[in-house]
Amino acid sequence: MLTLTHSQAAFKDAQSLMPGGVNSPVRSYGRVRCTPPFIASAKGSSITDIDGNTYIDYVGSWGPMIAGHAHPRVVKALQEAAARGTSYGAPTLLESEIARLIKSIYPSIEKLRMVNSGTEATMSALRVARGFTGRDKIIKFQGCYHGHADSLLVSAGSGAATFGQPDSPGVPAATAADTITLPYNDSKSFNRIMDGFGNDIAAVIVEPVAGNMGLVLPEESFLQALRSQTQAHGAILIFDEVMCGFRTALHGAQAYYGITPDMTCLGKIIGGGLPAAAYGGKAYLMDCVSPAGPIYQAGTLSGNPLAMTAGIETLRIITEDPSYTVRVTAHTTTLTEGLRQKAAEAGVAVCVHQSGSMFSLFFTDKDVKNFADSSAADQDAFAVYFQSMLEQGIYLPPSQFETCFVSGAHTDDDIRRTIEAAGTAFAAVAS
Ligand code: PLP
Repeated sequence: MLTLTHSQAAFKDAQSLMPGGVNSPVRSYGRVRCTPPFIASAKGSSITDIDGNTYIDYVGSWGPMIAGHAHPRVVKALQEAAARGTSYGAPTLLESEIARLIKSIYPSIEKLRMVNSGTEATMSALRVARGFTGRDKIIKFQGCYHGHADSLLVSAGSGAATFGQPDSPGVPAATAADTITLPYNDSKSFNRIMDGFGNDIAAVIVEPVAGNMGLVLPEESFLQALRSQTQAHGAILIFDEVMCGFRTALHGAQAYYGITPDMTCLGKIIGGGLPAAAYGGKAYLMDCVSPAGPIYQAGTLSGNPLAMTAGIETLRIITEDPSYTVRVTAHTTTLTEGLRQKAAEAGVAVCVHQSGSMFSLFFTDKDVKNFADSSAADQDAFAVYFQSMLEQGIYLPPSQFETCFVSGAHTDDDIRRTIEAAGTAFAAVAS
């Protein structure tokens, strides 16, 4: 039986200090009805809580930790960097180094700007698209998450396109009205809207592999429609690869699917576990950004030397060995095949999706192609599965609307133990 006595006390205390006891909502474990373990440390593929429980970690800080926790090279580089000072608010060689590294992996990015979070990256990319085109309206897709900027916190009625309603109190209706939300993978709805309003659209923003409604894979014709329609109407196509970047494939979803966007947003991995993100793309768009151009965007800690150091070292680790991401993907495939097999043995219907080193599991007998499909999967079964996995030392994201991440530090034994644990968890779901 898992003991979480210290975490329970810490959570109670934290609830008196922070909204819901956390600094980001999904950490509160609301959907799975148990106490979140408070974390004391992490190393490689494992994470340890303040009660001394150690788990195999498939959250990976929600994606950044592709090289595993506390990688010795990242730790050493950070220690040396910290000794030289933690922030200068002035240009450094590190910023040019990470920019060059990112450009070499993502050739569609001709110029880029470093920021501190994925939210800032998408928000700023949209500002560039609006500033460049002189248009206000944007299109996003239901179930895609692009951070919490006002114009992106908008959902819509299912099926037909609607002009947006705010998803959260505090988002001005006037802001939401400029966001058109459409179902993911629905080229027909998208083509209809672009045929009608295409010349009013500043940008189409999409997770080319969607990871925020569980993992949902794009139909290639859908991504192709986004590219051809935006090109035809002079709208900017923005790929939000904050999550799938370097994971669907080393060179991203854009290389994997062979579609080149105008702009790309990156985050998570490029900070190596410290706060960093970036937006970039065609030079003629990025040259509109201040001080080269009139579109304002800035940041006190942007390009922070510690974040750049962790990002550079992580990118070096995954690029120096050309088989690194291929190996992590192969491990992930072993795991997803094992999960499917164990579910079948227990007689539990599941849909398991994988893209590179990301995967997720839905309790449904249908394929999951969009947010409506994902929402229709069995959340109660997921909670039973999640609790059983946690009890057995497997640390998963606490919601079916999230994606699991495998790192280069996960061993064959980690994968084998996870598959065994899933067998027990599926039996609990079936009972
Ligand atoms: N875009 C995508 C695809 C994300 O998954 C996230 C966060 O998970 C964001 C943007 C926002 O990033 P951040 O949480 O760093 O603001």
